[in-house]
Amino acid sequence: MTAHRILLLGPPGAGKGTQAKRLSDEYDLDHITTGDALRQNKDMETEYGTPGEFMDAGELVPDPVVNEIVVAALEDADGFVLDGYPRNLEQAEFLSDETDLDHAVFFDVPEDVLIERLTGRRVCDECGANYHVKFDQPEEESVCDECGGELIQREDDTEETARERLRVYRENTEPVVEHYREAGDLSEVSGEGTPDEVFEHVRDVIEN
Ligand code: AMP
Repeated sequence: MTAHRILLLGPPGAGKGTQAKRLSDEYDLDHITTGDALRQNKDMETEYGTPGEFMDAGELVPDPVVNEIVVAALEDADGFVLDGYPRNLEQAEFLSDETDLDHAVFFDVPEDVLIERLTGRRVCDECGANYHVKFDQPEEESVCDECGGELIQREDDTEETARERLRVYRENTEPVVEHYREAGDLSEVSGEGTPDEVFEHVRDVIEN
């Protein structure tokens, strides 16, 4: 059997990163995430400025920068799960020239839930594991269960920036979702509920 090529779509806070990690473990896929790649290169000088300048404001990093990340990652990947890309129609077109997909999955989550998830999210500064101040607390406050690293709030998870990211999502990324929906290529699952419950929906999509 050939490896799966999976695209995850949905607003910030929908759980794409969490589900992508599970899929990559379960099916032995490369997890390609532009958000993490950009966070690791926040201060890199590009002709447009640094990625961090866009990210901290909740805006999209210019297409040439993210496209380059994706090309490099796809080159090395057999099967993959793509998370956080494409975020506008130009990126979607670029992607379709680069690779075919086997599954595109959209996570549906109401906006009030997204804001609560984003503003309460804490991430490990060392290993990137995700927690939530209410829904997913570590055993010891501010300490990562997995590696003992410090838990911090992402700079773009403040309420003001989270709302801007949702606005940017509606303006730029919803047309991408619509594009896959109209092509009949989109599986839509509820992104509410626990990570285990959501993963069951995703597994159904991948296996059926
Ligand atoms: P994420 O971790 O996916 O929520 O991404 C965090 C931030 O990284 C976004 O708010 C954007 O500033 C930037 N970013 C991530 N992926 C992309 C992309 N495909 N296109 C443009 N900017 C991106």
